[in-house]
Amino acid sequence: MPHDGGPEKANGDDASSIRQRKNPILSGDSKALIVNEGHIVFSEHGRKMDKKLDSHQTWEFGGPTGVTAMIVGFPILMYYLWICLWFYNGQLVHPKSIDDIMPFFDRMWQHIKQDAAPTPYTFAIYTSLMAIQLLLAFIMPGYKQEGLPVPSLNYKTLTYNCNALASWYATLAIAAGLHLSGVFRLTEIIDNFGSLMTVSMIWANVVSTYMYVSTIARGEQLRMSGNTIYDFFMGACLNPRIGSVDLKMWAEVRIPWVLLFLISISGACKQYETYGYITPNMAFMVLATGLYINACAKGEECIPQTWDMFHEKWGWMIIFWNFSGVPFTYCYSIVYMAANDPKKYEFSTPTYIALYTTLLCAYYVFDSSMSQKSRFRMQMQGTYQYRWTFPQLPWGTLDNPQYIQTEHGNRLLISGWWAFARKPNYTADWIQSLTWGLCIGAASPIPYFYPLFFMAVLIHRCGRDFERCERKYGKDWDKYCSIVKWRFIPGIY
Ligand code: NDP
Repeated sequence: MPHDGGPEKANGDDASSIRQRKNPILSGDSKALIVNEGHIVFSEHGRKMDKKLDSHQTWEFGGPTGVTAMIVGFPILMYYLWICLWFYNGQLVHPKSIDDIMPFFDRMWQHIKQDAAPTPYTFAIYTSLMAIQLLLAFIMPGYKQEGLPVPSLNYKTLTYNCNALASWYATLAIAAGLHLSGVFRLTEIIDNFGSLMTVSMIWANVVSTYMYVSTIARGEQLRMSGNTIYDFFMGACLNPRIGSVDLKMWAEVRIPWVLLFLISISGACKQYETYGYITPNMAFMVLATGLYINACAKGEECIPQTWDMFHEKWGWMIIFWNFSGVPFTYCYSIVYMAANDPKKYEFSTPTYIALYTTLLCAYYVFDSSMSQKSRFRMQMQGTYQYRWTFPQLPWGTLDNPQYIQTEHGNRLLISGWWAFARKPNYTADWIQSLTWGLCIGAASPIPYFYPLFFMAVLIHRCGRDFERCERKYGKDWDKYCSIVKWRFIPGIY
């Protein structure tokens, strides 16, 4: 059902309200085509442009050299930061002299060998999590959401069975049952952190390799460059599925954010067992990671409208980051708190109030801006239906949103948070990430890895996205940028 009131075209030249299905606005010339009986009208020009964008155009991430450095460098960096956190009180260690270089590497290697080697036990823990999440994805009741038209599938839309919320609630019940019955104490996650991290890396590489090889064997590869390592990193397939389960969407929510939340619960249990209480800082991380996974699960129907779903392929970059990078690096403040005396990161009451308030405000903008844009896109496509999940925040859906009608056919939202900046969701998400580091103050620099890394990811992602949109929308993009001038923060950048 289209949202009540209907959207408005806001080009200045025509601001009349429209009934999309009966009276679609045809962009540019009269050769425009209606696709999927929905509201979106793709012109011939738009289709040509989509085809071009679905072929390899430029080397991203520094090309084959850059992606090789990331495939090798990320796991090394993750081991190093975990060792510093767990064994050296969160301080960045380094060789003390030239003569100490080889012994330093030897010490690092010994930590990995002794505390991060995969074991049958940790293999069983991680694999069980994946198996349970996959099983829940197959069996739990879900909300059916139609995705965006996929140009490489001749503008067919795929249906997503959004049952992440039911699966998330079931996961909470299973985790509580396992912990309280003593069958599996959740503290085991923090206690076996290094080994679990290694298992996650092994799984990430196995799944990436399987997906790459099997997609090519089926001849379903898309946007390939011809360079094996680069294509392995970027991925070969766009929409991997097993039956009703979209693997890319499943992996984006059900592994990283669920595991991250379980790590924070594990850290809180560990702290309680060690000190007899949970610090406000640890409670903060439980709240922050809980809000994040809940947002992904309760708004899952908005995920098919995101860049990862409609553009990124399911390659090493996304798989590694979902299986390993997100859960085992975004949690550094939790790992620090689980291993260190709470006196090292105590704050005053006003500081705690400021910290919690910042998180909640940033979360509000993140949640409502994401839902404004996703629901706007669903409205334009004619697939929007009100779905009640907890919590629904004010201003999550826009009445009479204003937009720019592009010659391509798509529409660009310029109302709500999207009137102030072109990436309000990135700004809010980044502020959340900053609070995840700030919650231990200056006790260790390592938890600031997430906001620093995430800033680089978002700036790079924003650059890639804007470059793509510039090519896709041409002069309409320039017009959009002249109306919504700022990227992240109005008046500043
Ligand atoms: P974006 O908002 O960047 O989506 C980009 C796409 O949306 C564009 O390519 C364009 O697609 C469309 N678009 C852009 N502007 C408009 C507009 N004004 N009106 C209508 N459509 C528009 O979101 P992402 O998908 O990149 O990210 C989703 C969220 O995920 C973000 O909040 C991000 O912070 C978060 N994220 C978190 C990560 C983490 O590790 N914590 C990692 C990555 C993302 P089209 O070409 O179809 O018009």
